[in-house]
Amino acid sequence: MLVQTSAHALLYDTGPRFNESADAGDRIIAPMLRGSGVARLDAMIVSHQDSDHSGGTLSLLHTMPVMRFASSLPLEHAIVRARIESGETAERCIAGQRWQWDGVDFALLHPVEANYVNPKLKANDLSCVLRVSNPAGSALLTGDIEARTEADLIRRDAAALHANLLVVPHHGSRTSSTSAFIAAVAPDVAVFTPGYRNRFGHPRPEIVARYADAGIRTYRTDYEGALTFAFESGATLAARRERDVDPRYWHDTPRRGELRPLD
Ligand SMILES: [Zn+2]
Repeated sequence: MLVQTSAHALLYDTGPRFNESADAGDRIIAPMLRGSGVARLDAMIVSHQDSDHSGGTLSLLHTMPVMRFASSLPLEHAIVRARIESGETAERCIAGQRWQWDGVDFALLHPVEANYVNPKLKANDLSCVLRVSNPAGSALLTGDIEARTEADLIRRDAAALHANLLVVPHHGSRTSSTSAFIAAVAPDVAVFTPGYRNRFGHPRPEIVARYADAGIRTYRTDYEGALTFAFESGATLAARRERDVDPRYWHDTPRRGELRPLD
């Protein structure tokens, strides 16, 4: 996910690694950034160590300057070591960190320090949770947090979770998106980011229905391709779908409902 303000760019997660020599960083994200005129990243956040979120990181770090890097990766992780060995900083996401770029507020809501020393916590539940807001609206990026972290976030500060756009936790897995969490965030729009025909059957149909039944507009990147949302005052939050804007006959264009979970 690329978050752009008038003069800054932040990349949240870097997509999967495909094989020994290719990953989403060099095959998809770097060309997309170049095409968008982004020659350097002011910040990169890698939510957690699962390869579908961190797989493109190393190639991107080699491709362009990344001024600030934050993640929940273990300190001995190859990505953190690469950052340190090249004389650059690697921060840990800690709830309470905030900054402002060009009138846009960024706030990290998770993890807290204690989460890092809890041996029972899975990598998913260490995902950096980022809220981005300006006077026109807000977005909540949640990585792969699951129900226990959703409950922790509500307990810590339910009001801080509200966002107009929610990137749905864990690609719409049934271990996330509790009703209490959806009610606390109360988004207008929910975006599911599953891999096309992924082997986990994400998103689960009952989870998509949970959002739709709450009157929330849903989007899926596996059906709709890259989505762009503009947060501008006076405008309603609507997606620009890359497959509508720039169709090519060689692009795969699955229709909604055509695909089912594999199990
Ligand atoms: Zn994931």
